[in-house]
Amino acid sequence: MPPLAYRGRLAPSPTGLLHLGHARTFWVAAERARAAGGTLVLRNDDLDAQRFRLDFVDAMLEDLRWLGFRWQEGPDTGGPHAPYNQSGRRAHYRAALERLHAAGLIFPCTRSRRDVLDAIGAPHEGAGADDEPVYPREFRPPAGAPLPPLGETITVNWRLRVPEGEELAFTDGRCGEQRATAGRDFGDFLVWRKDDVPSYQLACAVDDAEMAITEVVRGADLIRSTFRQLLVFRALGRPAPRFYHCPLMNDDRGERLAKRHDALSLRSLRARGVTPAEIFAQFAAELA
Ligand code: GLU
Repeated sequence: MPPLAYRGRLAPSPTGLLHLGHARTFWVAAERARAAGGTLVLRNDDLDAQRFRLDFVDAMLEDLRWLGFRWQEGPDTGGPHAPYNQSGRRAHYRAALERLHAAGLIFPCTRSRRDVLDAIGAPHEGAGADDEPVYPREFRPPAGAPLPPLGETITVNWRLRVPEGEELAFTDGRCGEQRATAGRDFGDFLVWRKDDVPSYQLACAVDDAEMAITEVVRGADLIRSTFRQLLVFRALGRPAPRFYHCPLMNDDRGERLAKRHDALSLRSLRARGVTPAEIFAQFAAELA
């Protein structure tokens, strides 16, 4: 069979202004799609209604256009897999959740994050705050225990039961061979939250599958999430895309760039007269 035509994506979350770190990852994604003569999809990850703001969506589109990125499918351009705003794709995520439920691959969980952190003796703040702690084995209901119905409105957390002890591997296009053991490096993870919002892991895997993405380019902070998403693809019977994780960008003090680094937001660089060509020349030198 001939290889599938390349389909890549940019998937920003409108929770703040885009900064240089985002631009660098998106530049890599756009260059890889261009080099492959492929399609670039813009997906607006506006799932978390508490954290996203409408004005950031407009700012995000404007910044991406200012940089010169062009996408063939997206919230503004439409396309065969519309809608491209995650907030409009709830029915897709719910259908996937129902599938996981029918297959008995998930379980309801009433433990709080605090319960989980206490059980594994982890600090409540600081290290690992970005990532889900490994869910303690003793909190799991027995395998095969009958599942309560999902219900129309979801009021408990639902987690995917990971295959304890299984070693998962994938070859990353940038970082090479990656391995993790389910149950040790990551545990039973959230697929739906008790405030009735799908988790990032579920939504992202469903979209990448349904939008027929062939390569996911994103930051290296998401490598662990990739293992979780590989389990979602498998559970849904969908082939996984290839992955290419870009190194993260640090500030002068060696700290990871975050949306709070306003001085390095694309807005402020632009206001200071920096041009996209200068920005891209810097990226090319950094990633050479
Ligand atoms: N929207 C996610 C973020 O900004 C990116 C998810 C992804 O690329 O998979 O962190």
